[in-house]
Amino acid sequence: MALQDIKDRIISAEEKAERTAGSTQLIAVSKVQPNERVQAILEQGHRVFGENRVQEAAGKWPAFREKFEGIELHLIGPLQTNKARQAMELAQSIHTLDRPKLAKTFARLAQEMGACPDLYIQVNTGEEPQKAGVLPADADAFVAEAIAMDLPVRGLMCIPPVDQEAAQHFALLGEIAARNGLTGLSMGMSGDFETAVALGATHVRVGSAIFGDRVPSAG
Ligand SMILES: *Cc1c(COP(=O)(O)O)cnc(C)c1O
Repeated sequence: MALQDIKDRIISAEEKAERTAGSTQLIAVSKVQPNERVQAILEQGHRVFGENRVQEAAGKWPAFREKFEGIELHLIGPLQTNKARQAMELAQSIHTLDRPKLAKTFARLAQEMGACPDLYIQVNTGEEPQKAGVLPADADAFVAEAIAMDLPVRGLMCIPPVDQEAAQHFALLGEIAARNGLTGLSMGMSGDFETAVALGATHVRVGSAIFGDRVPSAG
């Protein structure tokens, strides 16, 4: 069973790193997966899921929430400002706060709604032009700016460049978080979650290793 296998591997990685067993949250990334596969993971008792797109999440999760209690949804994809309200209504965590305009929008909506999901600031650790996230050099200032807006900033998130050692990026993210007093680290995917656990990930985002390959035509 893929889910149990991933959970076991996380526990082993925690043990190896002398971390508390269960201190890493597994986010099952269900984007573009057929509903039967998602349902199967829910039936195995898992409740923490990740989605990339607000639209897709909004089409899929209300029905699952009627059938299963305690579902926790994490939005892990780039977020347009005009989708912020819907994202905040749907998700318990948003991992992709990456610019002042979005921070301001969250702050305004949080006032209005009286609540705000947990937020993670995405850092573009590889400084890739096509990738979202604040640059490492701008991260301290942006963290301070978001906290000054009273936003619930819980930690940092990164997606390392595909062609580089993930470990150096996870370590960099950990350093930036530590010097800013942040404890949350959203890092690690199917190919490198054990490395991420070794470097202190509090949330790993694992999709294909749990669900199988994404079916491109679905969703
Ligand atoms: C799709 C995605 C994942 C999961 O990727 P897998 O390689 O399938 O585990 C994790 N994080 C983000 C931001 C993603 O978009």
